[in-house]
Amino acid sequence: MAKIINVVKGTHDILPQEVEQWHILEKNALEIFSRYGYKEIRTPIFEVTELFARGVGDTTDIVNKEMYTFEKSERSLTLRPENTAGVVRSYIENGMSRLSPPVKLWYKGPMFRYERPQKGRQRQFHQVGVEMFGVKEPAADAEVILMAVDYLKSLGLDDLEVEINSLGCPKCREEFKNNLKAVLKPEFDNLCEDCQKRYEKNPLRLLDCKVESCKAIFEKPEIQKVIQSDFICEECADHFAKLKSYLDTMQVKYTVNKLLVRGLDYYNRTVFEIKSNNLGSQNAVCGGGRYDSLVKNLGGEDTPAVGWAMGMERLNALLPVPELKKLNGYIVSNSPVEALELAQKLRKEGYRIEFDLSNKKFTKQLEKASKVADYALILGEDEIKAGKVSVKNLATSEQKTVSIEELRSIL
Ligand SMILES: [Zn+2]
Ligand SMILES: [Zn+2]
Repeated sequence: MAKIINVVKGTHDILPQEVEQWHILEKNALEIFSRYGYKEIRTPIFEVTELFARGVGDTTDIVNKEMYTFEKSERSLTLRPENTAGVVRSYIENGMSRLSPPVKLWYKGPMFRYERPQKGRQRQFHQVGVEMFGVKEPAADAEVILMAVDYLKSLGLDDLEVEINSLGCPKCREEFKNNLKAVLKPEFDNLCEDCQKRYEKNPLRLLDCKVESCKAIFEKPEIQKVIQSDFICEECADHFAKLKSYLDTMQVKYTVNKLLVRGLDYYNRTVFEIKSNNLGSQNAVCGGGRYDSLVKNLGGEDTPAVGWAMGMERLNALLPVPELKKLNGYIVSNSPVEALELAQKLRKEGYRIEFDLSNKKFTKQLEKASKVADYALILGEDEIKAGKVSVKNLATSEQKTVSIEELRSIL
């Protein structure tokens, strides 16, 4: 026998018995996001590498370690590791800044990151996300958070915790960065290798470090004092206070987490995460924030923006597996032409119908029907002569002979 070829490490097939769950995620996204005026956008899964270097940030792990980059015709191309940069590229390229703001876009699809595969972390994974362009007011931040909560609730995740933080603007953040660097300077040699690199390039990202020895350093009182300080300027503070008051009004339960900085370079002011407590343990299911400088950095006009993304594999892991839909009817017959005619008639009306294609014995066909359908539609010689069909309820074994018209009131 020929050698079997397996799926690539870190990727997976979404099998028929799992795909119903994906349909629910996608259907609810379309339904809920439409209520907020969002339109779907589909961008290519690969872009020029420079887009991510500039758009995601060249101090991030994503860009430094995790991108699938390849060359074709002397151009460096990369499989998208996230989709905000691609959506921003499209927004600029298609002149969407000429539309009256806000421009609200959502997307879903596969993303690619070369990470060590583990439970819930794949190299090809899927995200659903939203981006809103053109509004700097905190009502926009509140609306995107509300929509994320709405969406998660629609899926059945109701035990949610929203964590928010404000990273300030480039102006006030500079002061915070300097304070942080000053207080961490004596600890520099004790920081992990990544943190030592971030120290100069992007000190805020230090707070995101998952290395235990780094986390312990940040717990020190003199460092906590800086982390917990209210460094943001008056304007940023006002923006954050308004966001909180909107969330209060809408009775969204939230906490302020000063360590929340998010893994990407482009955020300013609001950042947030949503955690689900469903299934006992706490799982981060949504992350996002404001990125007012990204459109400009990628060559567009100065345009404020805010958005979020959710990992769809992670959502699926928290949701119950829906039952596979059975057929409405399975036609049991030894007259293929009549069976085909009845099947086509019912399919055109929207019923899910199959019939035996290989002329098996009646009993075999009935066996199959009881596995895959709610009703067996028996089309024997007598039924065909009378222009009728015998309907067997496969749950109760109740059976009666009816006309095609009557059949519709049963199925
Ligand atoms: Zn500020
Ligand atoms: Zn570290």
